[in-house]
Amino acid sequence: MIVLVSLVMSEKKIITVDGPAGVGKSTISKMVAAATGFTYLDTGAMYRGVGFFLKQNRIDIDDEKDLAKQLATLDLQLVAAEDDKADVGVIINGKDVSTLIRSPEMSMVASQVSAFSIVRQKLTQLQREYGAQGNIVAEGRDMGTVVFPQAACKFFLDAQPEERARRRVEQLRIQGTKTDFDEILAMIVERDKNDSEREIAPLKKADDAFLIDTTRMSIPEVVKLILEKAAL
Ligand code: C5P
Repeated sequence: MIVLVSLVMSEKKIITVDGPAGVGKSTISKMVAAATGFTYLDTGAMYRGVGFFLKQNRIDIDDEKDLAKQLATLDLQLVAAEDDKADVGVIINGKDVSTLIRSPEMSMVASQVSAFSIVRQKLTQLQREYGAQGNIVAEGRDMGTVVFPQAACKFFLDAQPEERARRRVEQLRIQGTKTDFDEILAMIVERDKNDSEREIAPLKKADDAFLIDTTRMSIPEVVKLILEKAAL
């Protein structure tokens, strides 16, 4: 109780949760947001939304000039999820793409487009606009390092790749998608490689982030630890 009260009382607080694919960031961040009354900011959904937009419009991502022109026409909004299966609702130029962006294929597309500086510039700006409202739990890869370096509480979640693949397969199964463990594991490993080796805003722990290895932890245990640490 003391934990909750002190979090809610502090003005414009930002909690960042970064980490690799399938570590449970979304589930955990959503639960932390619900416990504190903060707004949940799913930045992966933004990269997925941009990936979807570029793919659907068959935009040549290697043509930087055209990419900039096309991105200028993109209106991306995050809205509350319509059902429990979706992490957050994503509207692209008025079209609800919330479910379409969640496939394993779109994960890979998001990872590809996230390496482009023009894409990151646009989304970083949008994320900071959400952050300016304060009291958010911002989840992604570069929240603590690039987007909100001034955040009051930073966390970096990690877990062994096999455990993350197991969790992702289970999550997709619940969402109604049957997948193959080895395929998902390979995708996770490739995505981690892309995300941590890219030049701009690579996936990495901020120096002042608190590292949580969740491999052998339950979701409620991780949430509890974050709430305790964030109250410090
Ligand atoms: O978190 P999620 O799996 O939805 O993210 C999809 C992809 O978006 C990631 O693999 C990563 O390439 C990219 N991303 C990013 N920076 C963020 C959030 C996501 O580069 N802050």
